[in-house]
Amino acid sequence: MSDIKPSQTAPEATPAALPRFADFGLAPPILQALADQGYQHPTPIQTQAIPIVLQGRDVMGAAQTGTGKTAGFSLPIIQLLLAQANTSASPARHPVRALILTPTRELADQVADNVKAYSRHTALRATVVFGGVDMSPQTAALRAGVEILIATPGRLLDHVQQKTLNLSQTQIFVMDEADRMLDMGFLPDLQRIINLLPKQRQNLMFSATFSPEIKKLAGSFLKEPVLIEVARSNATAERVTQIVYKVDEEAKRDAVVHLLRQREIKQVIVFSNTKIGASRLSRELERQGIRASAIHGDKTQIERMAALDAFKNGGLDVLVATDVAARGLDIAELPCVINYDLPYNAEDYVHRIGRTGRAGASGDALSLYSDKDARLLADIEKLIKQKLTPVALDDFNPRGARAERGDRSERYGDRGDRGDRGDRGGDRGDRRPSDRASRSAPLPRREKVDPWFLKPYEPAAPVEPKADTAADARSSKAAPKRAALLGGGPKG
Ligand code: AMP
Repeated sequence: MSDIKPSQTAPEATPAALPRFADFGLAPPILQALADQGYQHPTPIQTQAIPIVLQGRDVMGAAQTGTGKTAGFSLPIIQLLLAQANTSASPARHPVRALILTPTRELADQVADNVKAYSRHTALRATVVFGGVDMSPQTAALRAGVEILIATPGRLLDHVQQKTLNLSQTQIFVMDEADRMLDMGFLPDLQRIINLLPKQRQNLMFSATFSPEIKKLAGSFLKEPVLIEVARSNATAERVTQIVYKVDEEAKRDAVVHLLRQREIKQVIVFSNTKIGASRLSRELERQGIRASAIHGDKTQIERMAALDAFKNGGLDVLVATDVAARGLDIAELPCVINYDLPYNAEDYVHRIGRTGRAGASGDALSLYSDKDARLLADIEKLIKQKLTPVALDDFNPRGARAERGDRSERYGDRGDRGDRGDRGGDRGDRRPSDRASRSAPLPRREKVDPWFLKPYEPAAPVEPKADTAADARSSKAAPKRAALLGGGPKG
């Protein structure tokens, strides 16, 4: 996987004019780690964030994953904590001093990898805790003492509940991908976690989009934050070429195959609105000889990690993903994303296409559009303030194979059963009721909001390694239905 190379992608800046990490006064062990990583120059968000965080100020950062924001907050955190770094074996000498919360397990894992890499030449300890895996190794790491903790909210609270974790010495609190945290229904957990932190602390919040809810959350815990923006909020990546193809709903799977073959696309994430849609599309691609795998909330952590690793090292060409599963995937310079479904929330479109065209690299965002998507497209155009006129897909002759295969449920199944809500959490159709009501095309049937999401955190039973997130909890509920719908048994 290649990294962002700002020196190659910022045309207006000559290498001589680019800032250097050394300019920030970062300590030699950190600079050494950056050199190990091969980073030559800070990205724009890093250039803005590092000095501000070093000053101890609160930050509200408008930045997507892929901009280098992780280093933007973790490098100054490491620098700030260096004075307290020590090699003592005593856990008491290694209290949690920085807490970084992320909405998904994948993102937590990736942030932790980065923090560990950046702090490797220091005595600071970093560890990650997330749900869906055994708690014991996490418990052992927490008991030994750790200065920088990266966590998803549910599992963090489980550890607090089991008294393996004390947050009373946290000096720096980071909320990453705050918009997705809210989408996933984490607000009650977040409030509970914030109440466990000392009043006196530095707060950093990052979000790709800034809805009124996000601003309200920011106002509730940030103190006189400095606003850091690398791109206009809700702006789509500037260098992304966006094309919308008009196809019949029934021909969408064939259209994906056609696009992959016609454009010889090698590394692509295809977004599906539903888990079942993702699974079906992935199986169809595999049937057609395309190396594809689906990642979504019904997949185990191990399955997701395996698919991600295979994708990163070239063993897979296509990842078919739901929004939540794809969120935070640390895949730099992805050349292309495909929207098999247009997202129900226009903001998700911004997140999706943020997978490509990162830090100025060029990329393609291809979307499939059928007549019933008119309102969804209008929402996207309104948000990104850009017209996206659907065009015909060149040389495309759909096989009309759906009817031949007798796959009658498809027309309704992929978009209608909303099988994905298991990991969508907040995207429950209750977000913009007036918009919903005004849609001209009939919308897919939606289940009622699961009251699980409205409940505050409930601790896990003490022993068993329980699912961490809202996503996990919903997934486990949804599992039997999925197996039945897919005609498959439980996963081995
Ligand atoms: P992030 O937005 O933090 O997820 O970062 C996206 C990718 O950019 C990760 O693979 C980082 O390792 C990489 N990256 C971060 N900062 C730099 C930099 N200054 N130069 C090159 N690559 C970077």
